[in-house]
Amino acid sequence: MSLFNVYPLFDITPVKAQDVYVFDEKNTKYLDLYGGHAVISIGHSHPKYVQNISEQVSKIGFYSNSIQNPLQKELASKLAELSDCKNYELFLCNSGAEANENALKLASFHTNKKKVIAFKNGFHGRTSAAVAATDNLKIIAPINAQQEVEILALGDLESLEKALSKNDVCAVIIEFIQGVGGLDENTADFYEGIDKLCKKYNTCFIADEVQSGFGRTGDFFAFQKYNVTPDIISIAKGMGNGFPVSGILIHPTIKASFGLLGTTFGGNHLACAAAITVLDVIKEEKLMENAKEISAYFIEKSKEIPKLKKVKGRGLMLGLEFDFPIAEIR
Ligand code: PLP
Repeated sequence: MSLFNVYPLFDITPVKAQDVYVFDEKNTKYLDLYGGHAVISIGHSHPKYVQNISEQVSKIGFYSNSIQNPLQKELASKLAELSDCKNYELFLCNSGAEANENALKLASFHTNKKKVIAFKNGFHGRTSAAVAATDNLKIIAPINAQQEVEILALGDLESLEKALSKNDVCAVIIEFIQGVGGLDENTADFYEGIDKLCKKYNTCFIADEVQSGFGRTGDFFAFQKYNVTPDIISIAKGMGNGFPVSGILIHPTIKASFGLLGTTFGGNHLACAAAITVLDVIKEEKLMENAKEISAYFIEKSKEIPKLKKVKGRGLMLGLEFDFPIAEIR
């Protein structure tokens, strides 16, 4: 059986990885600044990560969400402490798209409305409601296009209020720093304006922190630079350092009921062991402070790059913008 050919592949075959390095089958050593699409948060094969996951799999790796799993509670409590989102509740699932899918679904249950507002160049994953919240027509199949979504320009509070005032919008979903879209970030007035408008019109404010969360920006969440209180926060990528795990943090104004959300694998023992280890290492090794230091160093050094227009992003979520196509730099 051949593989369904959806990924254009680089001709590289990593066979091992350690810390910030990846090695291919010829033992060529690569400095990994990509982190498997912004996933590796505490370094490859961190000794604690290897030890904790190995020990956990030798005890119990998975059972089901119909039994007690104290690791989920430990994860929630450590997450509350490190993120400072102390009064939120946690629902665990498996990927970034699934986190956003559940966030949108929960917003719709909570408000009893069904339209979604998202922003140009945003990306929230490829499941049905999540992919419909993008303006990339190439990835929206006809089955996804039936979702009611309005895409607005970043910064356009006027159009946002006009849309919300019709009272049919369940959620506004946004990345505070766009990942796939190219590291754009808007103003405090814009984000704080969304927060106020969502509260005024009984609409859930969803912070998609799938790529920008878990300390990557130097703060635990990118939204924490602003005076906002999202109703739902989506997390994934850096959360498991490569182990598939994701979740949503849910504000206590949104109430749980049995069966409202669910998943077979979400929050399994191994996923929890991975995510708990990530939180422990971020705390013990002061990785958020480190992100700020490395970022300042990178920004300072980037001033030496000829023809650089600007540095975009924050912390370790950084990119360089030039006035001309990148290929011309070589
Ligand atoms: N949200 C954001 C901001 C992302 O960057 C991504 C993936 O790149 C997703 C959601 C989807 O995550 P996943 O690929 O784990 O479904």
